Amino acid sequence: MLYSELADTFDRLEATGSRLEMTDILADFIRGVDRSELRNIIYLSQGKLHPDFIAKELGMADKLVLKAISFTSGAPESKAEELWIKTGDPGEVAEKLISKKKQMTLFAEELTVDRVFKGLTAIQDAEGKDSQDKKMKLLANMLHDSGPIEARYLCRIVTGRMRVGAGDMTILDALALAFATKEDRPVIERAFNVTCDIGYVAETIAEGGMEAINKIGVSIENPIKVMLAERLPSVAEVVAKMGGSCAMEYKYDGIRVQAHVGKDSVKLYSRRWEDLTTNFPDIAEALRARCKAGEVIIEGECVAVDPETGFMLPFQAVTHRRKKHGMDEAVKEISVRIFMFDILYRDGEDMTNRPYLERRSELESTFDIGDKVQMTTMRLVNSSEEGEEFFANAIAARCEGIMAKSTSQDSIYRAGSRGFLWIKYKKDYQQALTDSFDLAVVGAFYGMGKRAGKYGALLMAAFNSDSGKFETVCKLGTGFDDAFLDSMPEMLNSGLSDKKPKTVEAEMVPDVWFQPSVVLEVVAAEITLSPIHTAARDVLKEGSGLGIRFPRFTGRVRDDKSPEQCTTVGEIIEMFEMQAHDSDGLSE
Ligand code: ATP
Repeated sequence: MLYSELADTFDRLEATGSRLEMTDILADFIRGVDRSELRNIIYLSQGKLHPDFIAKELGMADKLVLKAISFTSGAPESKAEELWIKTGDPGEVAEKLISKKKQMTLFAEELTVDRVFKGLTAIQDAEGKDSQDKKMKLLANMLHDSGPIEARYLCRIVTGRMRVGAGDMTILDALALAFATKEDRPVIERAFNVTCDIGYVAETIAEGGMEAINKIGVSIENPIKVMLAERLPSVAEVVAKMGGSCAMEYKYDGIRVQAHVGKDSVKLYSRRWEDLTTNFPDIAEALRARCKAGEVIIEGECVAVDPETGFMLPFQAVTHRRKKHGMDEAVKEISVRIFMFDILYRDGEDMTNRPYLERRSELESTFDIGDKVQMTTMRLVNSSEEGEEFFANAIAARCEGIMAKSTSQDSIYRAGSRGFLWIKYKKDYQQALTDSFDLAVVGAFYGMGKRAGKYGALLMAAFNSDSGKFETVCKLGTGFDDAFLDSMPEMLNSGLSDKKPKTVEAEMVPDVWFQPSVVLEVVAAEITLSPIHTAARDVLKEGSGLGIRFPRFTGRVRDDKSPEQCTTVGEIIEMFEMQAHDSDGLSE
């Protein structure tokens, strides 16, 4: 397929704000795509060359891309830079300058999707002394044969700015529309949830239809989307919701890890599928050594412990294991244990459809428990008194609270979903009216006084999983220490956007906009109806959204969460209702 056809589709997708229309455009387009090319096309539409769990980065620096644009177009680098400062988008710079060049070039070799995919892969894989120059020339070579729209998307893809709105959920909708029926949509989504590879799901359905999709199961090669918990405001309500009895586990405050233990190798994934194996090499080794099976997938929480006493240390201690540099020292200095809570696969058997108690007992018998490899503390609870007692023990053991887990026959592992089969209850709920929020940064306001010349406050948003948009809930200016204020530009500026990103719904206008990428943990006094914030606008009251009052940054950057994994608007509505119910005095 010609790359120009794909670029034109990107252009049409970008032009519409409606998810339904986007789905139609995508479905129409993918029906006509050659099956052998569909997988790569799906990756490209998300600005990628492979699924997220493959840890390779395409990212070219803006300056290098400007060089390639000027090299191809003949425009001076200063001109490219001037346009870049104005627009903040190398894609737009390329579109403007390449359009001039195109009128002069008669003999361009046609650019196919295959050539683009191979060219981008070569850019990604270029290594060594001359790699920067190599990357620049590879890009220039493709730009040479591009029209303006093609150039726009090439430059956005290589700089990590490809956001035409083809999110995972929109692509799944389009696949159902193009190759199956609406009723098949949940099964297609499950295939994605257990593989985390949307390109593979697209290729499978295009080639083998629903029959092939039905055969997709859990495998050791692919990470699985994690199961998440709902929250309730008291232990009594948790036990009641569970039907009077359930299992309760300590809720450890560490880093969630999904371990894929193979016969000779182990891979540890974070909940956003980053490879954490080099962060926890000791845990990887201990899991393999203590595993009695050939291949398993388990989940657990990695927690720092005091090696002398075995006491759990606060969350901050384990974050030293997430650093990019000095990992050898961190591994020596910070002693870590994994507290395992689930098993998803063992030697060819998908365990996700088995009930909780069966999974728990299989997990325990699959490992020789000891030293660094532990089970989470669990107790079967039959009354709220027993629940309260267990909660008090969890807090005394320095945990955040408890995770209640359903023990019913249908208590399967629901990959990728947040539901009441697991319910969390934290110590924090006793002090504040709400849980903490993990919010995406979508904008910043310049500081004044002591903060002059820096970002002084941030515009924060929750994720609306129905619309795929980020809706604002607060302006956050408290809880930043000097080091954090200084680190903000480096952390945020790669997402700078010259206008409000298409995925953001906001009325408050910050000094600068960001594409949602960084997630911060925030606590607040309460959730209130807000005339200015857009979260849940018109849902509870016409003309009002929900905002949070007196927000404060806790100091925790949730780099284990992607922006789409931040607190959802649905959860904020639930917390608002939970808080109203609490203040009515109904919870005790
Ligand atoms: P939080 O920020 O409260 O940890 P979250 O959004 O990361 O929440 P939730 O599903 O709401 O995720 O809470 C479950 C999280 O708690 C898991 O992601 C995991 O990291 C952690 N956890 C700690 N102990 C357990 C346990 N015993 N069982 C399951 N998850 C646990």
